[in-house]
Amino acid sequence: MDLRSPAIWWIKRDLRLADNEAVTAASRHDQALAVYVVELDIWGAPDASALQLNAVRRALSELRVGIRARGGELMVLRGTLPAAFDSLRTQYRFTAIYAEEETGLHWGYQRDQRVRAWARRQGVSLTEFPHAGVIRRLPSRVQRKAIWDGRMSAPCFSAPERLSAAPAVIRAARATELPTFRECGFVKPEFALQRVDESSATRVLSSFLHRRAADYRDGISSPARARQTGSRLSVHLAWGTISLRTVVQATRAHLADIRGDRSEEAKRMRASLRSFERRLHWHDHFCQRLEDEPEMEFRALNAAFRQLPYQDDPALFAAWYEGRTGMPMVDACMRSFQATGFLNFRMRAMLISCACHLLDLSWRRVLYPYARIMADYLPGIHVSQTQMQAGVVGINTIRIYNPAKQLTDHDPDCAFVRRWIPELCDFSAAQIIAHAVGESDDSLGDYPAPVVKYSARSRVARSVLYRTKAGTAAREEAQRVLDLHGSRLRSKK
Ligand SMILES: Cc1cc2nc3c(=O)[nH]c(=O)nc-3n(C[C@H](O)[C@H](O)[C@H](O)COP(=O)(O)OP(=O)(O)OC[C@H]3O[C@@H](n4cnc5c(N)ncnc54)[C@H](O)[C@@H]3O)c2cc1C
Repeated sequence: MDLRSPAIWWIKRDLRLADNEAVTAASRHDQALAVYVVELDIWGAPDASALQLNAVRRALSELRVGIRARGGELMVLRGTLPAAFDSLRTQYRFTAIYAEEETGLHWGYQRDQRVRAWARRQGVSLTEFPHAGVIRRLPSRVQRKAIWDGRMSAPCFSAPERLSAAPAVIRAARATELPTFRECGFVKPEFALQRVDESSATRVLSSFLHRRAADYRDGISSPARARQTGSRLSVHLAWGTISLRTVVQATRAHLADIRGDRSEEAKRMRASLRSFERRLHWHDHFCQRLEDEPEMEFRALNAAFRQLPYQDDPALFAAWYEGRTGMPMVDACMRSFQATGFLNFRMRAMLISCACHLLDLSWRRVLYPYARIMADYLPGIHVSQTQMQAGVVGINTIRIYNPAKQLTDHDPDCAFVRRWIPELCDFSAAQIIAHAVGESDDSLGDYPAPVVKYSARSRVARSVLYRTKAGTAAREEAQRVLDLHGSRLRSKK
């Protein structure tokens, strides 16, 4: 590679300067321009939303400051790819592109194919670096853990010291504006969202490791407490404002620091951090599934579950998505998710279980709309988890969440429910719980009676799922899914 020739760092979901191989490689060139493309076709896709654009805008805004401090500039292009690169080349004749590999849905995959073909035709070299521990063309699942461990233990890359291009290019780039909500067809979110940029990621990691993690294990099941006791790093890992390796190494270093400490606090901290570390593995474990079998965006991993019948009633979909099912825990979780872009794992799983098992909505029907309400949306985790919670993977225990039990277990004083469902403000916890547990046919003031009964619907769903799972076809497929996608770690998900 001729380092005297101009290069670009094509920014995708790697919105950071530290521990980023793509920007490090670009910075070795005499001229390196940071480029973000506002792809209107991708932002118009059914899984995209204002919450996600909000994250990208914030992260780009801080990146721009960091790039300028290194003598460079961020160029924001608009349009589709590769046309946007083609037109950039008329003013900046780059011959190398550095980017991160992205495990996305089919439109992202097709875009990457087009860019690769274009680069070949133009004689532009395109070098793509792995996203965290996801392995492209993984020969066998058995090798995954060793490769993952190797990547996570390798030294992190420092942020580059210098990134610069010719003054005319810098001037042109400086005049380009960050993506706007309007041009992407969104309305700016009105509520306060988690801040997503590189400096916030570092602060969130530090506050988690040194303070909040002690309560991690006890707190992550509760939708209210998990906002403080969870790491809250998902949005940063999803948009790449911090690398997974940085998080893994900081966690291990902190565990080593407190190794000899016999205090109760340190014991709780150690147990929590080990549990947290397992989830960092899951991050890539689930992304790897979509990487290895991209067709899972359209069809259940386990072929035997592809023909399951669903009613897909539009009225029930609307009740679910708008938080009007008459099941207080479901509605409070959905409304809080819609309003903040965040919900803890258990309650995300309960919402999918409610949609697919109780309301008879297919996982395909809810996949994209559910993605839109997640500020931390990451296709690999999202598609895998949606299928898993819908019970169509065939290798996990079938789990049908009882929303009333989740309420009594994780919000016994109904504070969370009352916060998000104003119609229930004037009712006592005892009244709300009695309504939920008793599956009352009556409304509670303005709050509706449940649109379905858990006891009846869960029985039907359980019988369909177990019958399907017990069939020969499902068992054979389960073996294939296990061989190709099963975890080789001995832990529960
Ligand atoms: C149906 C469904 C869809 C989901 N979609 C997404 C998504 O699009 N993006 C996303 O980041 N997470 C998704 N999750 C996983 C999980 O809910 C969130 O990662 C977690 O709630 C984020 O909170 P935290 O950062 O405080 O997590 P912590 O508990 O602190 O975990 C640390 C990190 O580990 C990873 N992680 C945690 N739990 C899981 C898991 N079960 N599977 C894979 N990785 C995990 C995340 O990157 C997380 O930030 C989904 C879960 C379900 C049930």
